[in-house]
Amino acid sequence: MTLRLYNTMSRSLEEFRPVRPGKIGLYTCGPTVYNRVHIGNLRTFVWEDVMCRVFRALSYETTQVMNLTDIDDKTIRGAMAAGLPLREFTDRHIATFFADLNALGVVPATLYPRATDHIPEMVALVKKLAARGHTYESDGSVWFRIATFPGYGKLSKIDLSAVKRGARVADDEYDKEDVRDFAVWKVAKEGEPESATWTTELGRGRPGWHLECSAMSMKYLGETFDIHTGAVDNIFPHHENEIAQSEGATGKPFVNFWLHAEHLLVDGEKMAKSKGNFYTLPDLLEKAFSPRAIRYLLVSVPYRMKLNFTFDGLKAAASAVERLESLDLRLREREGRKGKEEEEISLKVNAPEAAGGDFAERVSAAHRAVFDSLEDDLNTAGALGALFSFVKATNVDLEAGHLSPADATAARGLLHEIAGNILGIMPSDAASGLASSPSKKSPSESSSESRDVDETWIDARIAARKAAKKTRDFKAADAIRDELLGRGIVLEDTPHGVRWKRKP
Ligand SMILES: [Zn+2]
Repeated sequence: MTLRLYNTMSRSLEEFRPVRPGKIGLYTCGPTVYNRVHIGNLRTFVWEDVMCRVFRALSYETTQVMNLTDIDDKTIRGAMAAGLPLREFTDRHIATFFADLNALGVVPATLYPRATDHIPEMVALVKKLAARGHTYESDGSVWFRIATFPGYGKLSKIDLSAVKRGARVADDEYDKEDVRDFAVWKVAKEGEPESATWTTELGRGRPGWHLECSAMSMKYLGETFDIHTGAVDNIFPHHENEIAQSEGATGKPFVNFWLHAEHLLVDGEKMAKSKGNFYTLPDLLEKAFSPRAIRYLLVSVPYRMKLNFTFDGLKAAASAVERLESLDLRLREREGRKGKEEEEISLKVNAPEAAGGDFAERVSAAHRAVFDSLEDDLNTAGALGALFSFVKATNVDLEAGHLSPADATAARGLLHEIAGNILGIMPSDAASGLASSPSKKSPSESSSESRDVDETWIDARIAARKAAKKTRDFKAADAIRDELLGRGIVLEDTPHGVRWKRKP
């Protein structure tokens, strides 16, 4: 199989070809850090995590950049309501965002750039657009004139005849079908806090939301890169505007593949606080569901389909995760080794000494079936189907006493590679010394290299640890220290606060 992805731009499945052989540059729109993300947002982030794990398993060197929108209408409103400087306000929400990702076993992105750390890049982009005649100034703000970009609407297929000449919209987000010129630089308004405006060549103000993603994606991934993702509600206007700004400035194609995750519904309805069907991760953890069961449910439906979240579905997910764990336990017993000792075994799928003919063939057939699904536009439901057929057959064989210890080892290798390393619904094998295929770098391996660990993430984890200590939750604080250590970051408590360094 070759990797095929559904490209929103062409509305069709396309064979994936990277810009640079063997490498993938991926930009995943991140959260606006003004509140706790809900499980619909988390569905998108977990899907993107599985995507990166699949790419790495397919031996693509993958660079994932996820922005943190820490300046826009919502964060400014939130900071003002909380009476905090913008940065302090958004720091808190970045910390809880990373805590949620971590609880769900999401491998950190390569980089988490913050919009407010990239104001000069955004100003430079506006100047480039101005030089190419795409902008005009009005009321002190700078606007993108969509009539100057003939490709406008190509991603969303929006009807441009609805455009009112000269009509503008200042909001960062506006309604579907409402096609208007949009602000790339917004003049500072009276009453807006000092902490949310910058004095630049464009005057005192701040960037528009759409501009942030154009500037940061091109800075880290180049003017043309492989894949840009988000949720379906990002298609218009956000991604349409990103294309206009980026291609308008460079004259080059911006992104080769656009992928979009569908919505999550709760009991068949759109999630809304007013309906009482709005859930965050802590809401579900409080109901004693495990993060792995939640993750299982989130990946159980392919990303292009709506996911209907129900508590019955979550219970079913919990029992599916238990089936995996109980099979793993029984296989471990069959191997005849338990506890510490087993950590020293290095397991290899398909290793010739690992299993006898028939069973080895079944393991590799299951492996193939899983990857056939994943390479078919990341079909996680198909992958789970193939995995559970294998689980069922292996349970039967175990029951009948047909498995040798070597067969059990091979079966565990498959479980840990697929359910652990790729789908993240079982503990990853990194800690137990299990290895899937020596030629492939596992995601957990790459994330344990401290030079890859993003500083924003480290700072947020340190902030989360400090918060845990403040509430005397020392268990959580220690867990964060260990988590950082696992990624090669050593913390030092000093009289001047916490310092960190990378393990040599
Ligand atoms: Zn974005």
